[in-house]
Amino acid sequence: MSRHLIDRRSLLRGALASGALYSLDALFTCQRTNAAAVGPNDNIKVTKVEAFVLKNSWVFVKISTDAGVTGWGEMLKDDAKACAAGALEVGRYLVGQDPNRVVHHWQAIHRGSFYRGGPIKSAILSGIDQALWDIKGKVYGVPVYKLLGGPTRDRIRVYGTVSSTTGVNAMKVAPSAARTAFKYVEGQKFVDEVTERFKALRQKFGSGVDIAVDFHGAVQPTTAILLIKALEPYQPWFYEEVVQALNVDVMAELAKKTHIPLATGERIFLKWGFKEILEKRAATIVQPDVCYAGGITELRIIAGMAEAYYSPVAPHNPNGPCSLAASLQVAASIPNFLIQERGDTEHPLLAKPLPPVKNGYRELPTEPGLGITIDENKLMAQVGEPQEYRTHYDPDDGSVVDW
Ligand SMILES: [Mg+2]
Repeated sequence: MSRHLIDRRSLLRGALASGALYSLDALFTCQRTNAAAVGPNDNIKVTKVEAFVLKNSWVFVKISTDAGVTGWGEMLKDDAKACAAGALEVGRYLVGQDPNRVVHHWQAIHRGSFYRGGPIKSAILSGIDQALWDIKGKVYGVPVYKLLGGPTRDRIRVYGTVSSTTGVNAMKVAPSAARTAFKYVEGQKFVDEVTERFKALRQKFGSGVDIAVDFHGAVQPTTAILLIKALEPYQPWFYEEVVQALNVDVMAELAKKTHIPLATGERIFLKWGFKEILEKRAATIVQPDVCYAGGITELRIIAGMAEAYYSPVAPHNPNGPCSLAASLQVAASIPNFLIQERGDTEHPLLAKPLPPVKNGYRELPTEPGLGITIDENKLMAQVGEPQEYRTHYDPDDGSVVDW
């Protein structure tokens, strides 16, 4: 045995004893550094899991391998530090594993814990799932949607800011009035204000622009039904989160009272959450978020469940570049895709922009994996304390309200 090997082994033992994963990474990466030479039949291993919390509460996970290939994913904004810490916990399982076994790891991470689901655990799983798919795509040299049987479409419709430059002709608004809805039962004045403003918007844009209304779960059921009926004549594209989704039966009751499609999903987690939504017909349009509904792996399954109910998927996305990139990979690999939320957002954290939006559609990403490269210097410059909880109050009596 050469002295070189003995030294490497003793160094490895030292690294393991100290828990210094960065030392392990250095050992592995020095064996093989030419990432371009890595192919599907090579054996590679995860060497390191890192997490980054940004000042705007975006949370990223980065997974490194001994082949020099890295993968990125994104998690929940609420409880950002808990998500980051959870990803590092999962790293204790993942380091040393083959990153290409994405579905196997999904199962292991989900079923390996006694307490499952919920926003934080699902978010941790989601970020890691995105990062593993990113690595797998890079190892195979193709975008993730190609590994998932796609593309299922030539381009991806997006909504966000209506623009003659990008051609985007779909948008979403809140039920706008002089103030937000914070009473359990709002009166005629509030309902009239919301109706007049939406009517003006419809007249401004005409029938050629799709306009959805997002209640944000901040409206109580008694007020929600008043608004649903008052806005109907102006043909909202869909109503989103008309009430909180914690009581799915209430949403299902409201869905039966209007012909306008209901949409929900940004606070529903994993296939079991969407099972209840679909079975009870609480929403027609499902909006799982790739950063907390279970990642790319789970969104594919949720899309399949929705297809059985003739329901389309409109991935929720208020977050960063991995969120959008992973959502686009899902859009390009499922049959029942409707539209991508904030699909027209350009992200400065990317080393180069995504393919552009033209005529209201984002061109398919062509780069391997998620199809993006994070500018790590720019990302590190944003690392810091996340935002605090945003509690809202009734200005009349100081009681806590939904927002
Ligand atoms: Mg929403």
